[in-house]
Amino acid sequence: MSCEHCNGTGSVWRGWAGGDYEPCDCTRKIKLEDPNTWPQIGSIWAHRNGNQYVVMMFTNVETERQDRYPTTIVYRNFGNGKSYSRSLVDWERSMTLRYTKLEDLIG
Ligand SMILES: [Zn+2]
Repeated sequence: MSCEHCNGTGSVWRGWAGGDYEPCDCTRKIKLEDPNTWPQIGSIWAHRNGNQYVVMMFTNVETERQDRYPTTIVYRNFGNGKSYSRSLVDWERSMTLRYTKLEDLIG
């Protein structure tokens, strides 16, 4: 059955901030309730701005109050070494998997 949001195309138009196509929720592989679907520690992801990041750790994994303390990914920019974090459920919105582990990037 076709998705009611993207009509089966897998991407939806976000009209704000100039507008852009983004993956539809129906294409999401990461499920909060299934840690097996989460990004691996040490995996390399590219933001759509071109920067690459390595996944460092997860926080708030055990919290019951996900509305106030959502499970969060801590990740690090390869270029400038700065650390960032964002909620797990937001991860796929702008991150694309590049390498499953650091060794693959280094070669
Ligand atoms: Zn969809």
